[in-house]
Amino acid sequence: MKLVLATHNAHKVVELREILGPLLDGIDLDGYDGPEPVEDGDSFEANALIKARAAFAHTGLPSIADDSGICVAALGGAPGILSARYAGTRIDEDNVAHLLRELAAAGANGPDARKAEFCCAAAFVADGFEHVELGVWKGTVLQAPVGTHGFGYDPIFQPEGFEVASAELAPDQKNAISHRHRAFTQLIPVVREHLARPTFGAD
Ligand code: IMP
Repeated sequence: MKLVLATHNAHKVVELREILGPLLDGIDLDGYDGPEPVEDGDSFEANALIKARAAFAHTGLPSIADDSGICVAALGGAPGILSARYAGTRIDEDNVAHLLRELAAAGANGPDARKAEFCCAAAFVADGFEHVELGVWKGTVLQAPVGTHGFGYDPIFQPEGFEVASAELAPDQKNAISHRHRAFTQLIPVVREHLARPTFGAD
């Protein structure tokens, strides 16, 4: 059985392979290097489905994809689905600096005012079947970046229950509890069940 993973983000591929490894026993995971679709959905779920549909249309194989970002309460949920291009450059350090500036401008200084969550929608698209799951990881935005692991906003995100940034967690620690872990842990049983269904008319 083959499954296509539709993502062009190298950081996410590394995390997803670690998260999916134990979940995909007996299923081969192929990368997708076809055209990137326009992500013009208005939610994480819509954009994850757009990416998985594009991979399925291009390969004809059951496909999974994710869409993710950080939502900050004091900024009305921004940057949300615009997280990857918040500063306009698609550079992680620029996005982090921009988010810290926006929070300072909003006067959001106490931990309550800096509440945030990482969200990840994980989508599965196969012939005549679609499913999407959302994973959320709650925390707060730190005053300054710290740590060297992970990517994106990890240096300024302190997960609930921790005294360190997610960029200070070991990769396997982050991947056991993150929004991406939650979304795919919910999605993969649905994928397995679908792939195990007998195909009508098959030998
Ligand atoms: P996507 O490729 O459209 O899903 O963009 C996701 C963006 O959200 C990334 O480029 C990061 O800026 C941010 N993001 C999503 N997940 C994480 C994470 O696990 N750590 C840090 N930043 C993340």
